[in-house]
Amino acid sequence: MGKPQESQTSQRRITICQKLKTAFARALFPDSFVCLDCERELCDKEREFSMCSACLKKLPYITTERCRICGAPIEHKFNVCKRCQTALPHFDKAYAPFAYEGFIKRMILSYKDGDCNYLYKHIARFLTDYYKALGIACDAVCYVPSGKEKIRRRGFEHNNKVTVQFSKDTQIPLIKPLLEARSNKDQAGKRRQERLATIRGVFAPDTNFDASLTRGKCILLIDDVMTTGATANECARILKENLGAKEVIVLTLARS
Ligand SMILES: [Zn+2]
Ligand SMILES: [Zn+2]
Repeated sequence: MGKPQESQTSQRRITICQKLKTAFARALFPDSFVCLDCERELCDKEREFSMCSACLKKLPYITTERCRICGAPIEHKFNVCKRCQTALPHFDKAYAPFAYEGFIKRMILSYKDGDCNYLYKHIARFLTDYYKALGIACDAVCYVPSGKEKIRRRGFEHNNKVTVQFSKDTQIPLIKPLLEARSNKDQAGKRRQERLATIRGVFAPDTNFDASLTRGKCILLIDDVMTTGATANECARILKENLGAKEVIVLTLARS
């Protein structure tokens, strides 16, 4: 009778020990010791990505057919979605390596609104690898900016941290041509038409920005997730109409 209890107790002890060890490792090496998803201890090879090979394989890579302009899901036989056939967006192309689900969704949310702001390095790494694989060459990189209220609430500007790292990793010059002129928070839950109508005026060109850095150039615009595309479209419109960009390519970590 004593044995099962004993083994249960020792099992519990091992589990507690394991949890403490993981918590300790996580506190000391938050981004390279344990897998970001399953928290399993990583072997040397796996530390580069901070993910175990099993979790890396499970990432929600986009494999379905996508519109070749905006990246929206489409029927197999068409190259361009109905929306882009009706009216072309202001950006020239939008790319995203992942669908907005599973670990990628959790990662974006815990980066933006949780206590894991070290995740900017991993998000930048995914974007850098994907950008290099695309084989395109942009002249400068910028990001969808956040307003003062959001930056104060989070304690950092999420797209800025990612894009600064991305710029270092790719050697593409970072520029800051845009400002969030008024809050964009009331966009959630709105239909696409409503979003398009209310997005006007949310962003503006930064009056201190030197437009010679965008005029006639191909600009890469970074954001975390693309949903309706209204935000990316509005930023691209300003980059082209106000700041003379020749081409705007959108790169987001995920696409919903
Ligand atoms: Zn894992
Ligand atoms: Zn499209």
